[in-house]
Amino acid sequence: MKFQLTNYYSYILKSLSIFIISLVFYGSTPPDEGMYPLSEIAGIDLKKAGLKIEVNELYNPNGVSLIDALVNTGGCTGSFVSDEGLILTNHHCAFDYIRKASTIENNHLENGFLAEDRSKEIPAEGLVCKITESYEDVSDIILKAASEATDISERTKVIRDKSRELIKQAEKDNPGIKAEVSEMFIGKTYILFKYRTLKDVRLVYAPPRMIGEYGGETDNWVWPRHTGDFTFLRAYVAPDGSTAEYSENNVPFKPKKFLKVNPNGVEENDFIFLLGYPGRTFRHQPSYYTEFHEKYQLPYIADLYRWLIDKLNEAGSNNPELALKLSSRIKSYANVEKNYRGKILGIRRLSLVEKRRSEEAELQKFIDSDPELKKEFGNVLPDIENIYKEILGVGRYPLFYGQLARTSYFRLVDFLNEYQKEMAKPEDERAGMFSPSNLSSTLENVKESFSTLDKNIEILTLSKIIGDAVKFDEMKDFEPFNKFLSEKNPTAAVEDFIKNMIGKTAITGYEDYQSLLENTPEEIEKLNDPLIQFVAAMKEADKPKQKEADVRNGKLNILLAKLLDVKRLRQTKTFIPDANSTLRFTFGYIKGYSPADATYYSPITTLSGLIEKSYLGGDFQIPMKLKEAYEKKDYGRFRNKKLDDVPVAILYNSDTSGGNSGSPILNAYGELIGVNYDRAYEATINDYAWSEDYSRSIGVDIRFILWFTQKIGGADYLLKELNVEL
Ligand code: GLU
Repeated sequence: MKFQLTNYYSYILKSLSIFIISLVFYGSTPPDEGMYPLSEIAGIDLKKAGLKIEVNELYNPNGVSLIDALVNTGGCTGSFVSDEGLILTNHHCAFDYIRKASTIENNHLENGFLAEDRSKEIPAEGLVCKITESYEDVSDIILKAASEATDISERTKVIRDKSRELIKQAEKDNPGIKAEVSEMFIGKTYILFKYRTLKDVRLVYAPPRMIGEYGGETDNWVWPRHTGDFTFLRAYVAPDGSTAEYSENNVPFKPKKFLKVNPNGVEENDFIFLLGYPGRTFRHQPSYYTEFHEKYQLPYIADLYRWLIDKLNEAGSNNPELALKLSSRIKSYANVEKNYRGKILGIRRLSLVEKRRSEEAELQKFIDSDPELKKEFGNVLPDIENIYKEILGVGRYPLFYGQLARTSYFRLVDFLNEYQKEMAKPEDERAGMFSPSNLSSTLENVKESFSTLDKNIEILTLSKIIGDAVKFDEMKDFEPFNKFLSEKNPTAAVEDFIKNMIGKTAITGYEDYQSLLENTPEEIEKLNDPLIQFVAAMKEADKPKQKEADVRNGKLNILLAKLLDVKRLRQTKTFIPDANSTLRFTFGYIKGYSPADATYYSPITTLSGLIEKSYLGGDFQIPMKLKEAYEKKDYGRFRNKKLDDVPVAILYNSDTSGGNSGSPILNAYGELIGVNYDRAYEATINDYAWSEDYSRSIGVDIRFILWFTQKIGGADYLLKELNVEL
């Protein structure tokens, strides 16, 4: 991996030069958390922590290292485990692609899937993988543009536009590369990442759902765990090595590096590290942010998703085909719902808002104690508080609008408008998804969205989202409600209104929609389509609200950057940017924990434990073949002597989040010993604050992956490809 280093901190040092400070960024106090960006790895004393290889074998900006074996698998993480493009990731990351490849008659999701040879591998439709190639600090360019914004409401837009310009240029200069600008510290540091993409990815081996999802929602976000959450994929490229869509002529991708599997696994207390693409954390946000989440965001989404899960399950209960179609949606709602309930509990149990508030009060005292600091930072916290007063006043509106805009019909109308706008432009000026090279896959995705569109479910969903919102105090004056719904009884009117609207819309199936795409905007307007009009009215009403939000975000962008500056002056600990779906490193130890009084959980579960749970039935079903192998004690080389068992899952205290799903867990020698897939329930809170006591992540042990793949899956050839001697 190559990169142009401009350390994130160089900007900070520049901007703080007005103070005589002595900052020690590294090596002062050991970090208590850490999703380290690549640029920070060299600053950690990994030898002391337990790493037994050279740090540059792990990450080498001037050569090949373990980092080059990492791949972003459609928002999750995966790693290359052979020089033939074989990728190991989670079953839940591949779930939707396995679902798409399944029918009721040939249900790979339920039964599992093994490609007997390469020719039988099935395309993972729609999956695009990304490999981080290089990165470059573009903070100066972005912040200069931002400082020239004439109006504070324009700041966010200017940052976005400048980022897009840099992306476009980078993609033009590096054909085949996908570029992204990621904000690391809010309002402070911006990094341009360049990714190689892989568009032909195929399913190789997935265990049956009952194993890939063993324990279902009962065990999701829970330790002790026994889920076989793994799947093998394979990436292909054109014969000349370039990125290509699926073709029979494609050849397996040769990664720069692949991970060596260690079939002997780990023991309690062993040093481990993970690489991956954690999604979002909010640790640098002020107390008010967490307050908004606790009060509005988490309960709103958790309650809505709970309601939707029940309705979708009901809809599929007598219709297996529909149930299969809806399975990914239900799974992702359930995953978020349980995570959010865990977060609410954690925020309350730890009095997180109050704790943050008192930290802020201490910080204010520190600022006020020095006239120079007071002049520069005295208003930062009060200004943030004022902005959040407004945000709390706006309440659930943005959540409502966000959910509305995610519904299928809303998105289809949106896409129709965008399509017409973009296609009217010259080809090279069109937004990425409408560019000639991406258009066909964009339209494929739209077509795919029709396959899961169910009119009745959409009516229910829209009625629920709007029906709830008309009752929110903070949304009493929302104009479109007055316009579209009867004033006397808006709640009762919602469902009738939605039914009527969906009943009359011209957007019914993909064929009708395709012909609508070919219409001119004038022709569309003449249709007087109630759904299209409704979406237009909602968008119009959202504009001024969006503008107000842009003003707040523009101000917060500056204030949060200043907040970080002043926090740095006070604390000498390492500051790590919040997770933002960019490549990160984290380390820790195989370690148990005590989630509650008088309770201690040890960190390795076993096949015997898996069998024990199967007596509960329900979410704990196992294949007959597994039971037989267990009864015969057919553990092969994967038996752990100490346990006299096959280890199934491991628990460790490194710092992970959503997006770390599928992250390789490596031992002190950089060998693969497991695949990360979850966190303990108490650890769902670590998106806001990490804690040594309860932040624990969960991975599937490599010994179980290999044992199951060989003994139950019958995929000996994969173990051979992984160089595992039997
Ligand atoms: N199991 C988690 C999820 O599905 C991913 C890993 C995590 O968030 O710790 O979102």
